[in-house]
Amino acid sequence: MLRYAAILGLVLTLLTAVAYGQEAAPSAADLVKDPAVKAALDAAKANEAQTIADQIRLCEIPAPPFKEEVRGQELKRVFEQLGLQNVRIDKVGNVLGDYAGAAPRPRVVIAAHLDTVFPEGTDVKVKRQGTVLHAPGIGDDCRGLAVLVAIVRELKKARVQTPGSITFVANVGEEGLGDLRGVKELFNATLKDQIDRFVSIDGTGIHVTNVAVGSHRYRVTFKGPGGHSFGAFGLANPIGAMGRAIAKIEEMQVPKMPKTTFNVGRVGGGTSVNSIPFEGWMEVDMRSSDPASLAAVDAGFQKAVDAAVAEENQRWTKPGMITVVKELVGDRPAGSTPENAPIVRAGLSSATVLGFSATLGEGSTDSNIPMSMKVPAVTIGGGGRGRDAHALTESFDTTDSWMGTQHALLLAVALAQK
Ligand SMILES: [Zn+2]
Repeated sequence: MLRYAAILGLVLTLLTAVAYGQEAAPSAADLVKDPAVKAALDAAKANEAQTIADQIRLCEIPAPPFKEEVRGQELKRVFEQLGLQNVRIDKVGNVLGDYAGAAPRPRVVIAAHLDTVFPEGTDVKVKRQGTVLHAPGIGDDCRGLAVLVAIVRELKKARVQTPGSITFVANVGEEGLGDLRGVKELFNATLKDQIDRFVSIDGTGIHVTNVAVGSHRYRVTFKGPGGHSFGAFGLANPIGAMGRAIAKIEEMQVPKMPKTTFNVGRVGGGTSVNSIPFEGWMEVDMRSSDPASLAAVDAGFQKAVDAAVAEENQRWTKPGMITVVKELVGDRPAGSTPENAPIVRAGLSSATVLGFSATLGEGSTDSNIPMSMKVPAVTIGGGGRGRDAHALTESFDTTDSWMGTQHALLLAVALAQK
């Protein structure tokens, strides 16, 4: 039965291809047999030492949040040196370079982010212990940047020709309050309506992330008149209102599947123990891979804060109305690329034909933006083994890291087919 179904499927696929007057695009399995692609893949493995040297060099150029410029200039220099066309830096600091195919479309964007989570002044000197490199940012995302450079280098050297084009991007603003501003600019302005497929190389290992966990982050500020704790007793208290809000938030019910979360992560305010504060503030983070669930938890949070302010104002008789401002400081849309989408299948099969196994996953990455816009997108790892991302103790084990380079290279070529 299964065999007949398979044959029927094959016949239907062929008929569809004939009906639309086109041949089926070469798969990753076909592409590894292409002499130029094979040469590029072999070189990617043979030259992994160069890729690791690039990773170290890029990591030692500090790139704190909102200060990616110096590292960006280095990527621009490398893109030009390797012969990419139309190398440019856009309004927000994304560095772009084109690898022209036979036609401008389809256009694949392969991106890696320039920024780290580490503040200015962090020691980013890389220390090596055997196969392991230690430095803040060494895996996330200097690995991605080094693989990006390796793909360009090997495609150029092997003169790989593609029907569609590839634009390589070293983008700003992936981390934290960067709030995906680099990729937002890419999709809304720099390359608006010109991106057919998007791959972010972010972090380490071999994986294909097709589910985007979205998040909303708020800084909430409660204000009141403030006064002496004894003399002015009876005034409504902004921190009192905030306490009521936190109690309500903690009681919110959220679905387990799709996993939806909330967290009050930071609080502050007040001037002294014997003053009724004039201000209190808190930072709140909410996440879900499901847009509707994210909207629902956000609505619950808004209601909790507004009700808390009303209760605090009602509790006290003297004038002194509490006001509140909820400032959205982070907005990463949720979304996903379906498991059976061609880009996800290509991500998995590019690993399989090379003899590696890739797993599907979810995360909050630059792909959140295209996924929320229904542009086919995945995030993949750059190979190797990363530990302690976002911590000063971050490390990267280079053992067999060439596998990540090969996987990313093959996927880039596979997606630049018609
Ligand atoms: Zn990252």
